[in-house]
Amino acid sequence: MTASSLPALNVAELQLLLRQREVSAPEVLSALHERIAEIDPAMGAYLSVDLEGALKLAEVADVNLPLGGVPVAIKDNINVAGQPCTCGSRILRDYRSTYDATVIRRLKDAGAIPFGKTNLDEFAMGSSTENSSVRTTANPWDLSRVAGGSSGGSAAAVAADEAFAALGSDTGGSVRQPASLTGIVGLKPTYGRVSRFGVTAFASSLDQVGPMTKNVRDAALLLNVLAGSDAQDSTSLKEAVPDYAALLGRDIRGLRLGVVKEHAGQGIDSEVKNVVAVAIDHLASLGAEIVEVSLPHTDYTVAVYYVLATAEASANLARFDGVRYGHRAERPQSLLDHYQRTRAEGFGPEVKRRIILGTYVLSSGYYDAYYARALKIRELIRRDFARAFEQVDAVVSPTSPVPAWKMGGRQADPLQMYLADIFTIPANLTGICGISLPCGFGHSAGGERLPVGLHLLGKALDEARLLQIAYAYEQSTQWHQQRSSHSVGGVGEAASFPSLT
Ligand code: GLN
Repeated sequence: MTASSLPALNVAELQLLLRQREVSAPEVLSALHERIAEIDPAMGAYLSVDLEGALKLAEVADVNLPLGGVPVAIKDNINVAGQPCTCGSRILRDYRSTYDATVIRRLKDAGAIPFGKTNLDEFAMGSSTENSSVRTTANPWDLSRVAGGSSGGSAAAVAADEAFAALGSDTGGSVRQPASLTGIVGLKPTYGRVSRFGVTAFASSLDQVGPMTKNVRDAALLLNVLAGSDAQDSTSLKEAVPDYAALLGRDIRGLRLGVVKEHAGQGIDSEVKNVVAVAIDHLASLGAEIVEVSLPHTDYTVAVYYVLATAEASANLARFDGVRYGHRAERPQSLLDHYQRTRAEGFGPEVKRRIILGTYVLSSGYYDAYYARALKIRELIRRDFARAFEQVDAVVSPTSPVPAWKMGGRQADPLQMYLADIFTIPANLTGICGISLPCGFGHSAGGERLPVGLHLLGKALDEARLLQIAYAYEQSTQWHQQRSSHSVGGVGEAASFPSLT
């Protein structure tokens, strides 16, 4: 294996080479750094990369630790001590983190090397990275299309072999949707399974960090390290963490999978619909029983989310006032002028829209009509899922109703963009876990293959079950081996890499 083909490996393959001393951790980092230098100008996945700092960790990496010597790309709303943490926003353009988020500490304790901060929609608000104040990340399958969002940088980095694996954050789908649009695996853990300490808050009752990887096993390997209680996050769960990777490989005979009656009318692209229908048939052929379930409040999901998420965001973003850190307007005439200009200059249009919307739904005259009512419907949605999970082990759907769209194609209509979150949002509203994995392709007018993601939802703390189903599907199909045209070597070469697992 040549150095230039190293970045094509997945985490499990890389671990093997590191442990057999075929390569060293610094060599891996250098190869990855070269790959980034070569391809990232076209992709725009990274906002910053600190090779020197990472090399220091690589030189002392113990390859026998769970993720020893494995570089992991980090979404730029997660704090890594000494690194920038821009959140894709002008308001934090010059900010540097003073501490490690708990997920970063856990990665480091497991021997992993946080390497590079990835692009995102400003403060993780969006579905395409077009709301990043820096640039839009390209989709490695077709550079004129979006990589999804808000963790689009992490997704593109993994899909273009600029990262072995990455962390994203998921408030309404931001790990799973970009994973779907770029043909990789993205897992949103149960609310509280992974600590939020040090993750820049968007909507605190919905946010979770999750792994974005080239396959299901890698997602399990990362979750093993990320999951667990944390004294610094009072919402983190105390339940013991199973060995997710060790639990892979059980068959799925007799498991019951729910197809949602109300999903039929949700504007699903016809290719996506067909690809997912074939995937569901495949799950049935593996012995799963497909059952129709009803989630009667599906139509309210998007509205409820955009009331609650904006309400929470308006409170969370109040801290960016130019006093303690971040951008500060020059020569303010008064305190009010200082706040107004700092925030007007620092935030982009989507963030402003959400702060205004969130402030409105929390204002005294409208609190009951919007915020309080949304909370009630959230509870009804939670009950819908509780009832569904009495009948089935997991719920199955597309991850996104459409494949990757052209850059600029949906910018003009935020509502269209919001509506595309229909399948992913419920996991955040109800706190349950979800995963997206590649299940086939749609096609652009120009004939490019555009990945389609299969979405599985499981009940709270049932990540091991989701991974079991996803792994069974993946291992009996070829989709995860399909590589984007901007992966190492481009189309076709992947097949000639030696299989190391
Ligand atoms: N697309 C959703 C939004 O814009 C979800 C974002 C996220 O999960 N961070 O809010």
